[in-house]
Order: sequence, then structure tokens, then C-alpha cells
Amino acid sequence: MRLSQSLIPTLKETPAEAQIASHRLMLRAGLVRQMASGIYAWLPAGLKVLNKIAQIVREEQDAAGAQELLMPTIQSADLWRESGRYDAYGKEMLRITDRHERELLYGPTNEEMITAILRDTTKSYRDLPQIPYHIQWKFRDEVRPRFGVLRGREFLMKDAYSFDLDYAGALLSYKKMMLAYMRTFQRIGITAIPMRADTGQIGGDLSHEFHILAPTGESGVFYDAEFEAGDALGVGYEPAALEDFYDSMTTKYAATDEKHDLGAWAAIPDERKREGRGIEVGQIFYFGKKYSESMNYSVIGPDGAKLFPEMGSYGIGVSRLVGAIIEARHDEAGIVWPDAIAPFRVGILNLRQGDAVTGEICESLHAIFGADCLYDDREERAGAKFAEADLMGHPWQIIVGPRGAANGQVELKRRATGERFELPVAEAIAKVRG
Ligand code: ATP
Ligand code: MG
Repeated sequence: MRLSQSLIPTLKETPAEAQIASHRLMLRAGLVRQMASGIYAWLPAGLKVLNKIAQIVREEQDAAGAQELLMPTIQSADLWRESGRYDAYGKEMLRITDRHERELLYGPTNEEMITAILRDTTKSYRDLPQIPYHIQWKFRDEVRPRFGVLRGREFLMKDAYSFDLDYAGALLSYKKMMLAYMRTFQRIGITAIPMRADTGQIGGDLSHEFHILAPTGESGVFYDAEFEAGDALGVGYEPAALEDFYDSMTTKYAATDEKHDLGAWAAIPDERKREGRGIEVGQIFYFGKKYSESMNYSVIGPDGAKLFPEMGSYGIGVSRLVGAIIEARHDEAGIVWPDAIAPFRVGILNLRQGDAVTGEICESLHAIFGADCLYDDREERAGAKFAEADLMGHPWQIIVGPRGAANGQVELKRRATGERFELPVAEAIAKVRG
């Protein structure tokens, strides 16, 4: 992609409305634009990140045995009356009336709808277990939308739902999802800690929230320093080691302030106690028969009797993750994208636009990296190009200046560490490719 032709409207000034770094940087790097309070348009570079995150989420859901489907954003009020949540949900629900005076709503979550679908399509115990999921826009009319996409009103969520015949099956699904989540965050390139959490609106008694640590996080969190070691976070765990993995995640202390247990906390050696703030990027729930019973969804069990499936639900805030990752990965100069989800793997900086040799090298790099690179081919000073590349946070920069170019050399910069290398073009290409 050529920067001169791209729709990446970077800003030099800091937008006044943005209170935290990720919001400022998302606007300044041209990733999103606010269209209404808590409602954002995703511009091309922002959309690339969103899609890359969604794709990793999808691959790990599939690997855990979940199946993707797509439910609509608009739902019928009657469905929510069945579970009793139509009135309970309150003002966060955006209620809509169509031309026939039928009551609809823009879905804030999908427990009711997925239960209705399974009720219609699964009749026997042989049809379970199932873990359907989708990646779809949600709407919650938050009292105070803020921090950009971190607390929007319209936001993209992956939500999965498990249906099992008994408690043991439901717990197994819960564990599989926890593993899928940890693998997902690990692949994205960030640390998220699973914390004991309240179940709130959804109901039930077993729940974990996944938090990315950041001083601007909305939740107070308490955790054992053992979670800071990479190998404690499920790195290398495979599905075969599910039980070990789950035990290792849940025997170490980690809780949000709502679930903080002073007794258990006191038992942790002082030097391992960590207190901080976290951004909730996912939450998983086991809630048993709450929806299957209230919505009268049963299957015929092995003994011919009616059996109400045991359920759980599993959310990841895909759009919130974009902001949360930036909150955890930025510096003074801008975003520091993890390799796996950067909009562009490499920025190519032509320091002398119009020079035949720099132009030739840049064009060949552009041809090689294609959609994975952003070629800064603007008539701009070198300083402006450096600042822009740092702001946008490409994991690699290939800097092509006339002096090096004359000898077939370029400068390669690693954004995360600031390291710079003088290299022949072919070696720079090989290093970026990894
Ligand atoms: P919060 O406590 O932050 O309001 P929640 O607990 O109500 O979130 P869940 O119902 O658990 O949210 O939804 C699953 C995930 O969707 C959350 O973990 C979060 O990452 C994301 N999410 C929820 N609300 C929003 C929002 N207003 N904007 C962006 N992402 C959100
Ligand atoms: Mg939650």
C-alpha cells in the first residue's frame, strides 16, 4: 500500500476529546473515526487490525471444537420475554419498533437467540454437546461511553455458547474455552490474566474475566506474581493437557475487586502480591439451566426422559481488544503493534523521494511485501516520515536513504526495541519475513 494513496488520515495534533493514550493514538494513527457517541467507523488500517484479531479468535475457537454461525443484530422482544430479561435488561438495551408496531431490539448479547436456535434444531441427547459461536456487532446503550472503542455503544464481540448434557460436560466446555482464550491472547502477543469474577446480568456461579493490565483499566485487580511468568499463562499448553492447564490457571490467585477474597489473599507471600488495574477483554460464564429451563429447551435423554441442557457463555471484546492492546503497547512516539495483528508488518520509508536509486529499491520492496507493507512515498521530510512510521507502529521499518542505497544498503528498524541495523536489501527482507 502506498501512503500517498491510502485512506489513513493521521493527525499531528492530539484530539482534545481523547482522555487516554489508546484513544488518542487510534485517532492520530487514522484507525477509526467517531460517528456518534460510542459509535465508530473503522478506517482501512483499523479494520485490518480488527480482522486480524477476529481471525485469530476464530481459529482458536475452531480448534477448541466450536462452530461458527452468524446470528442477526436485530432480535425480537418476544424472545427476551421468554427468559424474563426483556424488562430486566433496562436502559442499556436499544429498543426498536418496526412499521408494523412490532417490538425489536438491537442485540446486546445472544443467550436467548442461540437457545431458541438449539431448541428448534436439537432434539436428542445425541445432538449434544454443541458450542456455536459468532463474531457480530452488539449494541449497549452505555450511560457513559468513553475511552474510544474500549467502552463503545456499538462494539464487535465474539460470543460462544456451550450446551451440554450434564455438569461434567459443561465444566469441560468451560475449561476448553479458557484454554482457547489463553491461546488466543498468546497468539495476539499480549498478556491477559484469567481472574475470578462476578456473573452480573448473565447469571450463574462460575465465571472468569480476562484482564490486560494497564494503569487506565476500569477494574481493580489482585493477582499472584506467578502470573507474570510467561510459562504460567498456558504457553505451550495443548488440548491434551487441559486439566493441568485449568488447574494451573485457577489455583493461583487472581480476582477482580468484586471477587477479592481477603482470606485467600492473606495466604500469599507479600513479595508475590500484585495489585493493579485491568481492562476486561473477555469473560466466560457457566450458568447451568438458567436459559434452557426458562425458555423450555429440552432434549430427550438416554433414558427417554426430558433433559434440560447445561449452558455456558463465552465473550471476547474484539473491538475493545484493539484499544486494550494499544493501551498496553505504546510509547511516547506512538503505537507498538505486536507482529501478529499489526495493520502493516513493515513500513518502507523513502528518504529521498525522486531519487532514482532509493525509488527503485522502495518499489521493489513494495512489490515484495504487497498488502503487508505501507510505503511512505510522500514528498515529505525524513523527520516527518520517521514520526509517522513510529506513530503507526509498524513492527519493522525499512529506511531507504540515498547514501546507503548507492551501496545496496538499507536501514532496518525494529519498532519495539528501537534497534537499528545497516543491511543489504536482501538481508533486510529476510529479517522482516522472520
Ligand atoms: P463491562 O463490565 O466492561 O461493561 P461486560 O461484563 O458487561 O463488560 P460482557 O457481557 O462480559 O461485558 O461482554 C463480553 C466482552 O465484550 C467483555 O469482556 C468486553 O471485552 C466486551 N464489551 C462489553 N461491553 C463493551 C463495550 N461497551 N464496548 C466495547 N466492548 C465491550
Ligand atoms: Mg464481562
